[in-house]
Amino acid sequence: MNPNFLQTPIDYLKGVGPNRADLLKKELGIHTFQDLLNLYPNRYLDRTKYYKITQLQQSSAEVQVIGKITHIKTVEQKRGKRLVATFRDETGVMELVWFRGHKWIRENLKLNTPYVVFGKTNFFNGTFSMPHPEMELLKDHENSLRSAMQPVYPNTEKLSKSGITNKVINTLLQQLFAETKNNFAESLSQPILQSLKLLPKNEALLNIHFPQNTEMLARAQYRLKFEELFYIQLQLLRKNMIHKAKIKGYPFVQVGDYFNTFFSKHLPFNLTEAQKRVIKEIRADLGSNAQMNRLLQGDVGSGKTIVAFMSILLALDNGFQASLMAPTEILSVQHYNSLLELCNKLKISVSLLTGSSNASQRKEIHQNLENGELQLLIGTHALLEDKVKFKNLGLAIIDEQHRFGVAQRSKMWHKNKLPPHVLVMTATPIPRTLAMSVYGDLDISIIDELPPGRKEITTVHRYDANRLKVFRFLRDEIEKGRQVYIVYPLIQESEALDYKDLMDGYESIVRDFPQPKYQISIVHGKMKAADKDFEMDRFVRGETQIMVATTVIEVGVNVPNASVMVIESAERFGLSQLHQLRGRVGRGAEQSYCILMTSHKLSADAKTRLQTMVHTSDGFEISEVDLKLRGPGDIMGTQQSGVLNLRIADIVKDSEILKLARSYALQTLKADPKLEQPQNQSIKQTYAELVKFKNIWNYIS
Ligand code: ADP
Ligand code: MG
Repeated sequence: MNPNFLQTPIDYLKGVGPNRADLLKKELGIHTFQDLLNLYPNRYLDRTKYYKITQLQQSSAEVQVIGKITHIKTVEQKRGKRLVATFRDETGVMELVWFRGHKWIRENLKLNTPYVVFGKTNFFNGTFSMPHPEMELLKDHENSLRSAMQPVYPNTEKLSKSGITNKVINTLLQQLFAETKNNFAESLSQPILQSLKLLPKNEALLNIHFPQNTEMLARAQYRLKFEELFYIQLQLLRKNMIHKAKIKGYPFVQVGDYFNTFFSKHLPFNLTEAQKRVIKEIRADLGSNAQMNRLLQGDVGSGKTIVAFMSILLALDNGFQASLMAPTEILSVQHYNSLLELCNKLKISVSLLTGSSNASQRKEIHQNLENGELQLLIGTHALLEDKVKFKNLGLAIIDEQHRFGVAQRSKMWHKNKLPPHVLVMTATPIPRTLAMSVYGDLDISIIDELPPGRKEITTVHRYDANRLKVFRFLRDEIEKGRQVYIVYPLIQESEALDYKDLMDGYESIVRDFPQPKYQISIVHGKMKAADKDFEMDRFVRGETQIMVATTVIEVGVNVPNASVMVIESAERFGLSQLHQLRGRVGRGAEQSYCILMTSHKLSADAKTRLQTMVHTSDGFEISEVDLKLRGPGDIMGTQQSGVLNLRIADIVKDSEILKLARSYALQTLKADPKLEQPQNQSIKQTYAELVKFKNIWNYIS
């Protein structure tokens, strides 16, 4: 078969006229023969069973019945007419009903001829009726290329109404298989097929559309899922390899005085094994002459900052400047304060640049950056302003990646001749399988171990009715000198209700924790930035014992003395948010607590979220549950959900196949980066076609 045959416009398939072609394109995105072939069924119905009319039950299941039409009549009703056919088998009588398309049906239906009808039934006035049944002459039914498992294709209301039923799609596929003689080019290599005992492409396609039996169907599905994921991974890995081959970076070949002195004299603690491993990974990247593009994932408190700092030292050791950017002013100030001391010990010049830096500070920073005297610049988005020009930026670190877009990331690249190495740090763990498919072109490092001696945060779930007890507990903790967060769901402009909740809550807290004994800060999204910072500062300095807030405090703040996190209406928060919030406590030496307050009315999902929080503090475990509850689109944010528009595989359910596909894609590319070996020609060909015909998922910008 000519390989371009499958690219034939769908209009040319027998049975597809201009109208149907239009619908198929608009409703299902089917433009070519290939698209039709790749329209995989959503589910399969068991059509081995035939019901007698007297066996019919009142249920919503679809059933099939063999019988003959003995009579057709038109019934006038208030709005329009309906066509009613009397349908009989040897046990009884039922009705077939149409509300549309009367003319066609009247002209085409054969009386007193055996039909198989299929559909849902209604029961009214002692009679079963089947509206808009799928119908087939019994003799065609017996001869057709069909199997026990009847495929159900993704279909839209509009398509059925316009006459493109499931059966029509099935017929079109039969036509396509007849025209191609089921002779499709193999798209995987023989070694892969053999090693995994996968069905050949021909058999897989045949069985996905016309399953011989359940076993063959399962094998067909497995093969096609593997193939889909394999090509996604192949694409991501190739991007990564091309990036490494093409985008040169500054090689930081030497580990010099800064790094060595710090390591031997000033390291404030022993690194965890995970930190050591990650630093090694980063060192290897920085030492090669390809630009590093690495994502560092690690739970809150896992110690990412020291890893960042040691990477910075490697840049400085090689005569380059470095930058560290955080999403908020508070966070950048915190980074600055915690690194200042270390920098002073090593005599490294460091500055802080934020929106609040004044003109003369800015001027000095700009100057010293350009003449190279300033080695490390820490700050907010302000770092991205055009006036900020480094003499030789070698490493750009971005903390809390989810707040910055890709555009901003790449903006930092264009500050000097070669792009700086980029390290993106995030405390929002992304399930490995998802990271593999979405960030496949970034390298990923994971800190999956907390520093030793960290006390596990005690997490409990309490109902609102127990509020007084909870307040008593808070008083005890404050008595011991601790500080407390009380968090309410996010206030959005339109959500007057949230604001009222927060204010009601605040008032009751003020009542139960009276001044002057208790001082309370409040921070929410409707406040001006300066007011927020002022309130936050009071809490950071320990002037207030209670911080009442909306989720604005989610990212970053570090108040080691805060040991209790109360989350109000916890059922309204997503898992990753709950986990982030909980990460605000447990940063000091004291035992810390997280109290999840809810009403008694909880959905099943909410219960699962709360139980997960109570039972584990492992961010990766939590993110896996989150992925199962919400699905990948929601987790990545809607803008990226297109990423996961898979035809047949499911990132969550098929994570094992995904891992396998990735490892085979990696092996293939490692052994044969340009896909030149004879056994890889089928892969090369398929990949080229996927790219050429834009069938390949357009993942990452
Ligand atoms: P995050 O990953 O959330 O940015 P940080 O880097 O802020 O975490 O580290 C959290 C706290 O743990 C800091 O106070 C830091 O000094 C401390 N820390 C980091 N690594 C270690 C370690 N290996 N041993 C002991 N304490 C550590
Ligand atoms: Mg941090």
